Amino acid sequence: MSCRKGKSKTDPKSGRYRCTDCGAVVKKKDEVCEPAKLKNPKNPKKKKQ
Ligand SMILES: [Zn+2]
Repeated sequence: MSCRKGKSKTDPKSGRYRCTDCGAVVKKKDEVCEPAKLKNPKNPKKKKQ
């Protein structure tokens, strides 16, 4: 399988995939060797009370 070798293709947002091996972020999970789906964005919004 091909791997980005640390070169991210897109920003780390919810729904994207990050390679747990090299850390590259992609939109499609088949673009990295060990894809892990990103669930939380970097700056999650705080809930209003
Ligand atoms: Zn990788």
